[in-house]
Amino acid sequence: MKISKKATTIAIVNQKGGTGKTTTCENLGIGLAMEGKKVLLVDTDPQGSLTISMGWQQPDELPTTLSTLMAKAMNDQSIPPGEGILHHAEGVDLIPANIELAGLEVALVNSMNREKMLKQVLDSAKREYDFILLDCMPSLGMMTINALSAADSVLIPVQPQYYAADGLMELLKVVKGIHQRFNPDLQIEGILFTMDSSHYNNSKRNKQAVRDAYGAEIIIFDQTIPRTEALAETASEGVSIFSYDAKGKGAYSYQALVQEVLNHA
Ligand code: ADP
Ligand code: MG
Repeated sequence: MKISKKATTIAIVNQKGGTGKTTTCENLGIGLAMEGKKVLLVDTDPQGSLTISMGWQQPDELPTTLSTLMAKAMNDQSIPPGEGILHHAEGVDLIPANIELAGLEVALVNSMNREKMLKQVLDSAKREYDFILLDCMPSLGMMTINALSAADSVLIPVQPQYYAADGLMELLKVVKGIHQRFNPDLQIEGILFTMDSSHYNNSKRNKQAVRDAYGAEIIIFDQTIPRTEALAETASEGVSIFSYDAKGKGAYSYQALVQEVLNHA
């Protein structure tokens, strides 16, 4: 009998801004919760976009955020179970972030074990959840390196634009480096096409370019996320696409992504 659970930790990464990382983190997370999974979302972006889009509109006013917890880890202070964790009405938990995380990231550079502070913060949560999803900032800096060091796998949202394949090369180099130096178990969950206008030939060509470049070595999710008005609107509503527009294309596509992720797990 298995006594302690161990969450699958997925980092949602792309150093480009606006590729659908935050939207995917929220909707994949809530979609997994709707399948009965215990899910923790972690906002690792000092901009706090995930925190805001889940309904905590003033992240700077939150007393405890990821930076509080990481500062404790850096100072070898213990973190009481559940500290700083917020509960969302749709059944997922959230460790929020705000601008303080930018200062923490700078302080991290001079600390021991600087790549593994987030992993340390999440250590006890690993036993409490089935999935932990890390929403990353649009850079390959210290916070993203911490996310990659803490993760079991990397999910890469990509907008099928011209040159999308080029940015991926740099990202995959960093993932390989983390795999070699800090996290030998790190895998690539897959590339997810987001904000897709599949009826444009241009979009088809750009997706094909990514498949040609990486399809042989990396899983590319069958499901793509279409560009929809409803998905753009949910960011300011504090709810998932499943509450906002349950019958639309956006909800359907994230539901299908949930199934693919469950099949990989
Ligand atoms: P990132 O976290 O990578 O910066 P976001 O998830 O914040 O990207 O998405 C960037 C912007 O695009 C946000 O305003 C978001 O609401 C919007 N957006 C995300 N996914 C979609 C989509 N599939 N269709 C339309 N708009 C989207
Ligand atoms: Mg984001």
